[in-house]
Amino acid sequence: MKFLKLLILFIVVSFNLNAQNNSTLESNRQNNVTYVIKNVNVIPMTKENKVIENATVVIKENKIHSINKSIPENSVIIDGINKWLIPGLIDMHVHTLADGSPFVIYPTKGPLVSYNTQYNMTPYIANGVTTVFDLAARTEHFGQRNEIIRGDVIGPRMALAKVIGGKKSNPIAKTPSDGRNAVRFAKEEGYEFIKVYTWLNEETFKAVIDEAEKQNMKVVGHIPVAFEGKPTKDIFIPHFGLIAHAEELSKQTDDYSYKKAQEFAHLAKENGTWLIPNLTNMVAIISQAKSIKNVENLPNLKYVHPLMQNKWITSNGYFGRKKLIPYFQKQADFHKLIVKAFKEVGVPMVSGTDAGISGVIWGFSLHDELKLLVEAGLTNEEALTSATRLGAEWLEVDDKIGTIETGKFADLILLEGNPLGDINNTRKISGVFVNGKWIDRSKIDLMLSDVEKWNNANKEKYDWKELLNSLKN
Ligand SMILES: [Zn+2]
Repeated sequence: MKFLKLLILFIVVSFNLNAQNNSTLESNRQNNVTYVIKNVNVIPMTKENKVIENATVVIKENKIHSINKSIPENSVIIDGINKWLIPGLIDMHVHTLADGSPFVIYPTKGPLVSYNTQYNMTPYIANGVTTVFDLAARTEHFGQRNEIIRGDVIGPRMALAKVIGGKKSNPIAKTPSDGRNAVRFAKEEGYEFIKVYTWLNEETFKAVIDEAEKQNMKVVGHIPVAFEGKPTKDIFIPHFGLIAHAEELSKQTDDYSYKKAQEFAHLAKENGTWLIPNLTNMVAIISQAKSIKNVENLPNLKYVHPLMQNKWITSNGYFGRKKLIPYFQKQADFHKLIVKAFKEVGVPMVSGTDAGISGVIWGFSLHDELKLLVEAGLTNEEALTSATRLGAEWLEVDDKIGTIETGKFADLILLEGNPLGDINNTRKISGVFVNGKWIDRSKIDLMLSDVEKWNNANKEKYDWKELLNSLKN
């Protein structure tokens, strides 16, 4: 018995040592060069957000070392004249491709489809997306995160949410006790967040959220269909922290008035529930419902893995739903009112795009979202805040990222134009700092062209329908 206790203690201790090693690895993934950006206009995205013109920013190891202090010797100088520096962007709703098999074929068989992690991450980095919140994370995403932390792959920081779905999705949680077990299991597996999903019944939804609070895990997610036709206030349960898209609200009502949007906003405010408006996804859905050509002609489709290119074109779930277009359009219009009302009432909103669903391309989509948020009534600054400081706050990593301040991780984007003047300027990327690693425009272009070349060379090897058929046999 004593031996067993010692053994357990040893395992626990070595586990903790591993955790410590991880934090040293965190610092291993940066390089040893000290960078100085000179004469740059810094948009710090702090609450005051006072632009610091003509500033000198020193990046040492993986941190913002100083702003407007002395320049260390032997540093690499980056010219910031007429350029603008903003924090790296955060996409709060993504689905990153990861290796996978839908079921075990035989023990020791690897995944049916494997991906090059760098190619999966390059579109994020090329777009200055330095943190992502994966809302359907699997074990493989922990592997990706480790590759990035080790420095083997240049990629964003990854926050991972485990989906708890209800009757149709994995893990099946039909009862409150199923739900609580699923939360505890997710905690043990190492997830930081829980995503509640569409098929949970009311009691299980409540139990999952309650258990998540006990386990100190924040909850993001959908509003289950079980709540349709029920009083709106029933949806807002304490500790339900973040709604995954505005669509969750538009599905609850036929009343697409501003008054209804305000009612949602007040309930969210009282409950402390934040919102990911996710305007991009509905725009993408409408565009695909109209014509498959709108997918084929996406300018950045070439950066999408050929299996997904094939799936989005040959097995598109939205194409052909022409009859639903007026309904989708009404929803999209209502989502803009929701953004307006949530702004008016003062409910924090964070940018997220559903990157990875058909037609929504990782990294690029966040710039679409920023533009749509501005069209819906946010100022350029508010849109940027939703994709920087507020995302970091919700994830509780705002002491590390989300603003440009001394001591924070150096996740930064150097822009050719001022995004406070024109939100489209977030696309004019001159270079990106990813955890202190400088990736200039030419390196970004090279990384993107690597992805494109590989995708083009391997296009013929991937056929979504064939893959599905092979699983049936
Ligand atoms: Zn999603």
